[in-house]
Amino acid sequence: MIDWEKENHQAKRQFRSYYCSACKQKKPCQLFDREYCCSCYYHQEREKAGEYSSYEKVLEDKQKEQEAKIKQLKLLREYSGCSQCESKQVDAFELYENNKLICHPCLMKKEGGASSPISFLEQQKWYKKHWKIELSEWLTNYGYLPVNADCAWKWLKNKEHLNNCACLKEKAQGIYELFASSLKEIEKKLKECVCEKSEKIRVNSDYYAWCEKCEKSIVVASKKRVIKNRNDPRFWGLEVKEKVLCGDCLANYQEQMPASKKYTFNKYVKRGYW
Ligand SMILES: [Zn+2]
Ligand SMILES: [Zn+2]
Ligand SMILES: [Zn+2]
Ligand SMILES: [Zn+2]
Ligand SMILES: [Zn+2]
Repeated sequence: MIDWEKENHQAKRQFRSYYCSACKQKKPCQLFDREYCCSCYYHQEREKAGEYSSYEKVLEDKQKEQEAKIKQLKLLREYSGCSQCESKQVDAFELYENNKLICHPCLMKKEGGASSPISFLEQQKWYKKHWKIELSEWLTNYGYLPVNADCAWKWLKNKEHLNNCACLKEKAQGIYELFASSLKEIEKKLKECVCEKSEKIRVNSDYYAWCEKCEKSIVVASKKRVIKNRNDPRFWGLEVKEKVLCGDCLANYQEQMPASKKYTFNKYVKRGYW
């Protein structure tokens, strides 16, 4: 790397390690994360947890997953093999994502790629080894599968288990509680946050920012990615939602500026600062 490239690289890294990657306006206190400030981190987690926001929703999801899995295994069992190469291995991705039986070796020859093969025989071995059950027997006799190894084990001990199996409900409850409690933990810990709010508006690029109204580019003050005061509407005593504005757009707000700022603004215009 030549020197200026190195410097540029370092500046970028320093910026990244210094300011929140999401909002850019806060220095993370690193209570939860190095890259994100605490409030951005919390919002991200809350969004993720949205999928698991109620027990009923989790249960419904898990039921659908279970049904899909059974359907796919039945489909796989019917597979008589590839008409071209006679292999019984199908592409796992195509099976799980699209419910399709596509010969894995033939697909790899044609397209390459990194997906893995799956066959009914291997699945049977897996269930036998890990859950001690006969997969084919389950699909034929019950049209159902144990929820997990524990559920399979309960059934092996007591065949009545299938009639009053609550394992899926327990699993859903567990997942729901895990998410709810981890979010509560974060909320509690959030009180210790000492993230520093940046005084200056910080931007994505080392050299330019863009006017939030007309999208004209604005030169950034330094490699610290700080916009110049003159592009900060707050500097002009304006209360607008934009954080970065160019001179032309600011001129439209001149009437709203306090008298002293109006004076300074005119001076800037005369001196050709924009
Ligand atoms: Zn942030
Ligand atoms: Zn084939
Ligand atoms: Zn069970
Ligand atoms: Zn913090
Ligand atoms: Zn503008």
